[in-house]
Amino acid sequence: MEEYKKQAMLQYFEKNFRENIEEEQLLQFEDMEKYKVTVSASKIGAAIGGCPYKLYMEAKHPIQHSFKQLRIFQRGHIGEQTIGKFFKKDSVKKQLKIINELNNEPMVAHLDFLLGDSKKHRIFEVKTTEDVKTVQENWKAQIIFQMGMYMEEVGPDVEVEGYIIATNVQNGELEIHEIEFDDEFFGLCLIQAEYLQDMFAGRRKPIAIIQHYCSSCQYKMECPAAGLLATQATESIKKDLEIIKNAAVVKKEAEQAKKRVTEHMVNFGQSKIKDDYSRTVAMLGETSTSRFDLERFKECHPELYKEFLKETPSYRLNVI
Ligand code: SF4
Repeated sequence: MEEYKKQAMLQYFEKNFRENIEEEQLLQFEDMEKYKVTVSASKIGAAIGGCPYKLYMEAKHPIQHSFKQLRIFQRGHIGEQTIGKFFKKDSVKKQLKIINELNNEPMVAHLDFLLGDSKKHRIFEVKTTEDVKTVQENWKAQIIFQMGMYMEEVGPDVEVEGYIIATNVQNGELEIHEIEFDDEFFGLCLIQAEYLQDMFAGRRKPIAIIQHYCSSCQYKMECPAAGLLATQATESIKKDLEIIKNAAVVKKEAEQAKKRVTEHMVNFGQSKIKDDYSRTVAMLGETSTSRFDLERFKECHPELYKEFLKETPSYRLNVI
């Protein structure tokens, strides 16, 4: 396929993809700008198990995600659509929105699936993940907050249960985790909700908490915690630098030693010598190797050279 054709097609796909996602978000969240700074179950989960500063930046200084990144994000929707087929259409409620208030400000929870009769209601939160076995702290916070919000809505006569359905869309693995409601944990979620309200309103400073995913975070350079990490070596990076330095010294010393041994053997006309440990060093005769003369090829066939040139990113490390 010609490159220009492919690029035109990709541009067309990307434009539609972005528009369709925006349309879906509008249907789900109505006012996206307002939703960005509204406390929600997913934001509480992200703050408890992650970094509030990132949440703040995503709301206040959103960065446009690449086409590739957007496609990756769609894995969650694929998982949800698949799990949606586990339920009878007329018995389940999908994307049920619960709105409540804290300090006269709204809090919202979107329940992926809700199943129930007059006595017992079950909330299902779908997670698309590679590790379906481990319940992450942020998942737990999210479902407990959803349960707490929903319990206030339906009152004490209805029993509410919460489940995480963890699915791996690559290999089809599936796990169902029942999460017990926990008053204390719900209280912690409410404290976090209050902090997020203040943070979005500018009454409190967003706190940056280092995460395992900091290196791929789009706000790492301006981040007060990780910004320093970008230019200063952490303890583990310091150890790695030491290993690289030592290896470079040993390599240089080994080359010099090899040269001295060769000189010794040539001067004494020996092709073999032994050391105290019965190790034998043998000098092999002269060898000749054939090498492709790239420089000459470039000179003689510049067009052909360009045609076969393949660019791959490479990095050189200079430890000084
Ligand atoms: S780099 Fe890490 S600490 Fe900084 S905002 Fe991103 S996730 Fe938070």
